[in-house]
Amino acid sequence: MIVRGPILWPSDHGTVRYIADGVIDSDGSIFEFANFPGRDRVDIRRSDGVICPPFFDNHIHIPQHPIRGHFMDGVDANPAGGRLIAGLNRNVFPAESRCADVDYTKQCVTEFLRETRSKGVIGGIAYMTVHASAAHIALEMLPATWSVGLVMMNQNCPEYLRNDESNFERDAQSLARDFGERYIVTDRFAVACDSQLRRRGVAIAQQHGLRTQTHLNEQLKEKQFIEQTLYPGQSYTGVYEADGLLDHQAIMAHCIHMKPDELELLAEGQLYKEIADRMNISYSVVHKHQHKIFVKLRVGNRTEAVVKWTALVPNSWHQDQGQSRPRTCS
Ligand SMILES: [Zn+2]
Repeated sequence: MIVRGPILWPSDHGTVRYIADGVIDSDGSIFEFANFPGRDRVDIRRSDGVICPPFFDNHIHIPQHPIRGHFMDGVDANPAGGRLIAGLNRNVFPAESRCADVDYTKQCVTEFLRETRSKGVIGGIAYMTVHASAAHIALEMLPATWSVGLVMMNQNCPEYLRNDESNFERDAQSLARDFGERYIVTDRFAVACDSQLRRRGVAIAQQHGLRTQTHLNEQLKEKQFIEQTLYPGQSYTGVYEADGLLDHQAIMAHCIHMKPDELELLAEGQLYKEIADRMNISYSVVHKHQHKIFVKLRVGNRTEAVVKWTALVPNSWHQDQGQSRPRTCS
């Protein structure tokens, strides 16, 4: 098949080329239509829209799929603990609890897969729930392009939605054995998972060479609860760092209300060689990019870059309460 239409064509180093009138030949070659040798052919199909590469979604919750767009339904404008926690308790946690049921979970994963594929998403990294059976089902049903996490929760959450802690290692080992690195160790967020359970998850990641993921600094009241009530004197990022979560190629969602020292903690977690290995580029290219950033910001090191960058971002961005509009995930 030969398809003609506007094309978004990613190239190296994060740039994207836009071809207003392009062609993808049957062998996958991409041309400007004006330069396409077969432009007189009659079997060229016109695309219905912009032609893009497939997408990977690196932060998505499978059990929230049935209620997407409705996380804040019925939640007051300014509840005591913030809208994030209120929305979780009212809408999200009840939806997640339904994945205790095997048949419901299969239906949920089937629908998730159909919908994400229909939007061009062919893989990514997803949260499941506290139920080991649900994580197994998702990993079995989804293609290998998806990684899925058994969610760790054991505090500040409903009694009906907590891990079977006495069997956590058994369940996690089973997932690691059956699915390898497609199992991603998944801390729900520091509000709902204590340090002891988080460290047990980190030990599994260490043993099997798995990645970790969690949420970080999504809303101010959540951040205040962590830093003033649960872990007084520690930063939100510092809590994860102290428990070892940042040591396993962690994926941090949101990262909205970050302070400079927290950004520095995340940056420290990535040695140049690790960055190079992970991005499949050379050590020298990492240095080259870093140098360009330093020149642009007129700074001499990572710490100064973080401080300068933070100062450059508009105050409105830092002060975003995140409480007047629904989040796409939580
Ligand atoms: Zn989320």
